[in-house]
Amino acid sequence: MSSNIRVAVVTGGNKGIGLAIVRDLCQQFSGDVMLTARDVARGQAAVQQLQAEGLSPRFHQLDIDDLRSIQALRDFLLKEYGGLNVLVNNAGIAFKTVDPTPFHIQAEVTMKTNFLGTRNVCTELLPLIKPQGRVVNVSSTEGVRALNECSPELQQKFKSETITEEELVGLMNKFVEDTKNGVHRKEGWSDSTYGVTKNGVSVLSRIYARKLSEQRAGDKILLNACCPGWVRTDMTEAHKSPEEGAETVVYLDLLLSDAEGPHGQFVSEKEVVEWGFPPESYPWANA
Ligand code: NAP
Repeated sequence: MSSNIRVAVVTGGNKGIGLAIVRDLCQQFSGDVMLTARDVARGQAAVQQLQAEGLSPRFHQLDIDDLRSIQALRDFLLKEYGGLNVLVNNAGIAFKTVDPTPFHIQAEVTMKTNFLGTRNVCTELLPLIKPQGRVVNVSSTEGVRALNECSPELQQKFKSETITEEELVGLMNKFVEDTKNGVHRKEGWSDSTYGVTKNGVSVLSRIYARKLSEQRAGDKILLNACCPGWVRTDMTEAHKSPEEGAETVVYLDLLLSDAEGPHGQFVSEKEVVEWGFPPESYPWANA
């Protein structure tokens, strides 16, 4: 075990914003950088691409939909590093607007990866985070939009300072059930499955940050959700490059060891955004 070597892990690191995050961390993080991908061939191809650029990421398979895959990474990190210093939950999916898949299936599949998969990674890996560690959950302003489209009752639940992880999981499962029963609008939900799942990621981040503050106050771990902006990747056509999309994520990954914050915040363009504030009102309203 080489537990004195620092290590950063990026989920969904084989392309898009995740690959750009890995590239930046290889250049700026003092320690090993683990590029993870669900598909070994795609992951290793990405590692080779970065090696051709003179960088040296390590590779580990990780499918966030598969608990055994997450636990295999957890065991590897414990054995090789005795824990983890930086965790970037970047892996995510979004159906294209033209995709003919029935709405309730889109809701179930998107929830499985974006919310439940991210939560499973956190459940297994947050206990490994070392003092002064950094955790960044890549969420989206689409989540804030979806929150603002929900009924006042649902908004109140999501904005509660005391909402528990179990209550949040219950709400996310209810959304999927409501789409199956064709009643999600009547029950006060947004029409954006992606947005609802990303709101879940943002609220989950607040809950985890609160728990860290309560249970590991002396460890100065900082955990935040962020939006990378509107980025040109396989997920969407947009104006920012993946490298520009990585900037806010990497800024949060590399917060100085004595930094007091941000913690438990939603960050966009390297700025803390007031919780639940409609994205149209941001000074840079384009993400
Ligand atoms: P992308 O190019 O489609 O990349 C998504 C990455 O996630 C890929 O590496 C993909 O792997 C991986 N992934 C998907 N499901 C996974 C799973 N079950 N296990 C492990 N990896 C999985 O999209 P992107 O634009 O870079 O998105 C990265 C993150 O930023 C996502 O969380 C997205 O929601 C968020 N985001 C993006 C934008 C934007 O404008 N692009 C805006 C706001 C937020 P495969 O190659 O195997 O599919």
